[in-house]
Amino acid sequence: MALESLDELLEEELKDLYSAENQLLKALPRMAKKASSSTLKQAFTTHLKETEGHVKRLQQIAEMLEIKPGGKKCKAMEGLLEEGKEMMQEEGEPSLIDAAMIGAAQKVEHYEISGYGTARAIAEKLGQDRIAQILQETLDEEGATDEKLTEIAQGEVLSMAMSAIGADEDEEE
Ligand code: FE
Ligand code: FE
Repeated sequence: MALESLDELLEEELKDLYSAENQLLKALPRMAKKASSSTLKQAFTTHLKETEGHVKRLQQIAEMLEIKPGGKKCKAMEGLLEEGKEMMQEEGEPSLIDAAMIGAAQKVEHYEISGYGTARAIAEKLGQDRIAQILQETLDEEGATDEKLTEIAQGEVLSMAMSAIGADEDEEE
């Protein structure tokens, strides 16, 4: 489609996010299932609940703007989730697979953070303050999830991976 106004650009960004969130909604349960660390499992489950809210907020915004949120496929999210899936199918030390999944999930969060930041900036420019505020609420949750994942990696998963690998090396000696 030809983009001729900021309104149309906002609509495109929102549709992309709507597709991204819906794809993530389907992926998070299998990520939670695969996670070995119970903290990581819990983080994925919590973010699944939040993601349901993100989809609802986008539907709410679409109603406010009288647009349809569907009809677009976010190819970036498709690719990010595909990469994550490849990692999850690897055999190996569970804590290393957890670390790989955290990395994949953080790439997803960063993608969403940029998408919501862009959409919020456009909404602000258009004087759509309520919509900008709703987008900010989701943006805050994506940011908090990203930080939580860093915490789990640094506080637990990477140390577990190191000691698991260390133990293996000892056995071989
Ligand atoms: Fe989200
Ligand atoms: Fe997210």
